[in-house]
Amino acid sequence: MIYIGCHLSVTNGYEAMGRTMLSFGGKTFAWFTRNPRGGKTKSIIPEDAAKLNGLIKEQGLGPLVAHGSYTMNLCSSKDETRKNGLEMLRQDLERMELVPDNYYNFHPGSHTGLGTEKGIELIAENLNTVLKPDMTTTVILETMAGKGSEIGRSFEELQQIIDRIECKDKIGICFDTCHTWDSGYDIVNDLDGVLTRFDKIIGLDRLKAIHFNDSKNECGSHKDRHEKLGQGKIGIEALKRIALHPVMENLPFILETPNDDEGYITEIHTVTNWFI
Ligand code: FE
Ligand code: FE
Ligand code: ZN
Repeated sequence: MIYIGCHLSVTNGYEAMGRTMLSFGGKTFAWFTRNPRGGKTKSIIPEDAAKLNGLIKEQGLGPLVAHGSYTMNLCSSKDETRKNGLEMLRQDLERMELVPDNYYNFHPGSHTGLGTEKGIELIAENLNTVLKPDMTTTVILETMAGKGSEIGRSFEELQQIIDRIECKDKIGICFDTCHTWDSGYDIVNDLDGVLTRFDKIIGLDRLKAIHFNDSKNECGSHKDRHEKLGQGKIGIEALKRIALHPVMENLPFILETPNDDEGYITEIHTVTNWFI
């Protein structure tokens, strides 16, 4: 099976997200740990987090996949931006321990002119200052579409970050189907080939979560524009093959498709029905 869900708003707290997802018929969810574009954060009530933890156990929810802010850039050419990014990361990971044993996903960063190699070094260096052996969260790097100076556009770039990480058991990968397709991996005609490459370069044991999206653009477009399942260039048959692939078994699948609640509920049901 897979655990399917979508992004939810944290506005009404943690337990509310869990209850909302159960009402949607899903088994996992994602949320932005702070304003995705502004970086601001809401305080967390420990009792509320504890209630969500209870709900996860009671209802058998799969691992949750928190998402860091888009403004967090650990490899910016600007010192101030990097410093702020590191502070956001440190704070986010501290808070993640209130909902232990889940995933924290973020975009590796954009090097904004420093070059890929330097960018990779900075991302790893910053991660090494906050990843601790005793934390329960696994930090997962997202596969990126490769727009602008984004790092993480290839499995090789992601592995070069992982190579430099000291706490190797705290790091994994979030495979975004839209991004991976846009960056040039043909998951429609050669899914097994792409997964074999992933395994050779990174290792399938690092694959922890899927961002499950169709794409508005062609393979290799480097655009990053998500589409509803079955309405984009990846298409429903290819998406179904991905979800049902044996290496995906038990992974959390997060929808990041352009939908309202009704649309998400429909997609959650569509995917769930593939497993019946
Ligand atoms: Fe993302
Ligand atoms: Fe994503
Ligand atoms: Zn995206």
